[in-house]
Amino acid sequence: MTQKFDVVVIGGGPGGYVAAIRAAQLGFKTACIEKYKGKDGKTALGGTCLNVGCIPSKALLDSSWKYHEAKESFSVHGIGVDNVRMDVPAMIERKANIVKNLTGGIAGLFKMNGVTLIEGHGKLLAGKQVEVTAADGAVQVLEAGNVIIASGSKPIDIPPAPVNQDTIVDSTGALEFQSVPKKLGVIGAGVIGLELGSVWARLGAEVTVIEAQEKFLAAVDEQVAKEAQKLLTKQGLQIRLGARLTGSEVKDGQVTVSFTDAAGEQQLTFDKLIVSVGRRPVTQDVLSADCGVTLDERGFIYVDDQCATSVPGVYAIGDVVRGPMLAHKASEEGVMVAERIAGHKAQVNYDLIPSVIYTHPEIAAVGKTEQQLKAEGVAVNVGVFPFAASGRAMAANDTHGLIKVIADANTDRVLGVHVIGPSAAEIVQQGAIAMEFGSSAEDLGMMVFSHPTLSEGLHEAALAVNGHAIHIA
Ligand code: FAD
Repeated sequence: MTQKFDVVVIGGGPGGYVAAIRAAQLGFKTACIEKYKGKDGKTALGGTCLNVGCIPSKALLDSSWKYHEAKESFSVHGIGVDNVRMDVPAMIERKANIVKNLTGGIAGLFKMNGVTLIEGHGKLLAGKQVEVTAADGAVQVLEAGNVIIASGSKPIDIPPAPVNQDTIVDSTGALEFQSVPKKLGVIGAGVIGLELGSVWARLGAEVTVIEAQEKFLAAVDEQVAKEAQKLLTKQGLQIRLGARLTGSEVKDGQVTVSFTDAAGEQQLTFDKLIVSVGRRPVTQDVLSADCGVTLDERGFIYVDDQCATSVPGVYAIGDVVRGPMLAHKASEEGVMVAERIAGHKAQVNYDLIPSVIYTHPEIAAVGKTEQQLKAEGVAVNVGVFPFAASGRAMAANDTHGLIKVIADANTDRVLGVHVIGPSAAEIVQQGAIAMEFGSSAEDLGMMVFSHPTLSEGLHEAALAVNGHAIHIA
């Protein structure tokens, strides 16, 4: 017998599982289809983010940072630790346990909220029907009042360096190394490449990042990107810009890559190579030819600002649609769609989606960069606070980086907050809240911040916008 649901969600990542829970909370009979199997062979919810993305990468970043600090900077605090060493398999196991806990937690949330989990591969058919093929080949067709496609994304493969998940790995493989590679190559100086490169560099790998673009972190505010390049280089990441990969050869457990840069043809040999050149939307086998949903020119599912596809009652959210590939963007789209199905007027403010690179120091931003605003002809005032002037940062021995607040020169409205430094992600979130409420730099400057905190830097940078900073020259 055909099962009928008010809402069927394809994909249980941060887009899909959040959409499913919100839809169920709103009283809809909801199913979520997920095909991914975890290491124990059981269906695991949470998508890329929980299984092989945000969470496991942050677990390794935190472990490797603690090791780095114990080795390199505990002595500054007067703490003597002899013989600091890293048990890589134990670090990887800790990460796996965190993933297991979190993905299991989502299964619990499904039960609590009454979401039906359907295990298998979902495909949208015409007329809002969804075909589900289970692992054993059994096929069932669901009837849906509304369908939300949240099939996510996959790493992009490049012909010059085909991934074999041994010497040449993608981001998923880079989370599973059982020992520290002596020499590690990273193709792509984006968020994922820099984060994973940092993990292994902190543990002792000699890391070279090969990036085709001439400019480092081209989308980041220039002042912040320059500071990031300086600090990451100082930490030992060798960053080769304007370098175009032409080929690779795997031999005797190593990989030699060939690339061209301003100096001509180059070759480097690594023990492991991470290919992290971006991700592509997963649309293959998700849409039947006659379902009516269309793709945009870049292969993403075409949606409007409210995530509606070209078929009424069919929505798409997260990495499979336009916009930044970020878990929180996917989740907020999930909430918006569930609420719109319920007739509410929910929206996502795409202008204020914060982004973070979890290197150390962290690099975080919300709103527009100074270059973007200048290119748009917007007159701005800028306030910058260096962490070197922060008492809290000094106490923590973590004084690299800066906080930058950009405000409209005419209205004083905050248009961008950019941070490189300790707890940048948390500080930028405060900027995001202020901006969501239309704050001016003066408003931020009039707020009382606890002392001593790293957040005080945001206060000072906001004051500096109008030349009123107290603690900087
Ligand atoms: P996904 O998380 O990709 O989930 C899609 C789900 O759909 C998957 O579980 C998949 O198995 C399932 N699926 C696909 N097709 C079907 C089908 N036909 N039938 C059934 N199920 C299907 N983002 C951040 O915001 N912060 C971070 O720190 C961060 N770090 C990252 C680190 C790494 C190494 C990587 C790779 C990504 C990181 N991301 C981060 C990005 C983040 O993981 C994604 O933006 C987010 O997971 C997208 O959510 P989604 O629900 O759209 O898709």
